[in-house]
Amino acid sequence: MKNSESDNTDQTFVPPVLPTYARADVAFVRGEGVYAFDKDDNRYLDFGSGIGVNNLGYCHPALVKALTDQAGKIWHTSNLYRIEGQERLAERLTKECFADSMFFTNSGAEAMECAIKMARKYHNDNGNPDRYRVITFEGCFHGRTLATIAAAGSEKLIKGFGPMMEGFDHVPFYKDMSEVEEAITEETAAILIEPVQGEGGIRPVSTENLEILRKLCDKHGILLMFDEVQCGMGRVGKLFAHQDSTITPDILATAKGIGGGFPMGACMATDKVAQCMKAGTHGSTYGGNPLAMAVGNAVLDVVLSDGFLDHVNQMSYELRKALVKLGSSYPEVIDRVRGKGLMLGLKLKTPVPEFVGEALKNRLMLVGAGDNTVRLLPPLIVTAEEIDEGVSLLDKTCNNIKKALEASKADSDTGD
Ligand code: PLP
Repeated sequence: MKNSESDNTDQTFVPPVLPTYARADVAFVRGEGVYAFDKDDNRYLDFGSGIGVNNLGYCHPALVKALTDQAGKIWHTSNLYRIEGQERLAERLTKECFADSMFFTNSGAEAMECAIKMARKYHNDNGNPDRYRVITFEGCFHGRTLATIAAAGSEKLIKGFGPMMEGFDHVPFYKDMSEVEEAITEETAAILIEPVQGEGGIRPVSTENLEILRKLCDKHGILLMFDEVQCGMGRVGKLFAHQDSTITPDILATAKGIGGGFPMGACMATDKVAQCMKAGTHGSTYGGNPLAMAVGNAVLDVVLSDGFLDHVNQMSYELRKALVKLGSSYPEVIDRVRGKGLMLGLKLKTPVPEFVGEALKNRLMLVGAGDNTVRLLPPLIVTAEEIDEGVSLLDKTCNNIKKALEASKADSDTGD
């Protein structure tokens, strides 16, 4: 036995878990709506939603019921058999968007893997096996598998994991999208973009730019792929983020909010693309299993219910308005507010980890992102009163950061 029980009582005990996350020293034992509680029953306001996952908050009664009812019936059968909940969810989701067909996964990265494979297979089956490359954008994030880190291409993600999977071309995010054309070659299979960049710092792509990309894809016979793993499923006030434009992709990956906390994702496609995925070309043991599908259908019931997305837009308006005001009260801390729906970001002038840590001390959960931005991803069920509470905790956080800045300035002025 390697770890004796006495080891576990040692103050220096390090859990046998890969230290791939810089974890805060707090563990939550239960949740209720927008609040999470630690073991001493301290209450935290969650404006991170488990990184955009718990869209219906903690322990939503409809989700708890769907999961527990299903748990008493059948947990898992393989995809070698029909799964009714899967057929039902696919029918409902495809009815709501551009897609004709879909594949269920357990995570966002798996949904992206399916998307990338489909883009390659589509061209292969249409007599263009040399068309395998995918154009992606600076600051993007598509997951942590070998293919998806290669897709993002950032030093932070790929360092030490070489050789990288071949086949991704990276272009700047803020470049005029018409310049993307320069990166298109005879080998390009697809353009892949997040309609709102999440990890990259809550950076929305304008409708005009999405239009440019769609036109480029049509002109060059390549596929447009959207990664809506973070921005989809109601997060920005539409079921899918691109639906506030008339642009539709050929392939879309989604995850996070789709299962409201149950691990699940999906890759959706038009018939034209989907028909290249025949029996045996792709698979997943767990993807789309009865437990996940029961929860997925229950999430969709709520997200599609009357007034739900209007509520998201209304809360977005309230939160953004308050954040802009906060920005003008603390210009030394907040640079600007950006984002869409309830996927909002504060680009800071001060370091993000300190801000997130200070907020946590004030019992407000936030998530950092790239481009020195802190993410605000409250559950979509958040109320106006809870937004007020969040804003007052943010105010306290900004005030403490401001005081610390002033103190360190005073120290450096006096040469301490
Ligand atoms: N794509 C985007 C846009 C994401 O934000 C994420 C996760 O943050 C992923 C893909 C990967 O999803 P997962 O962590 O579920 O594999």
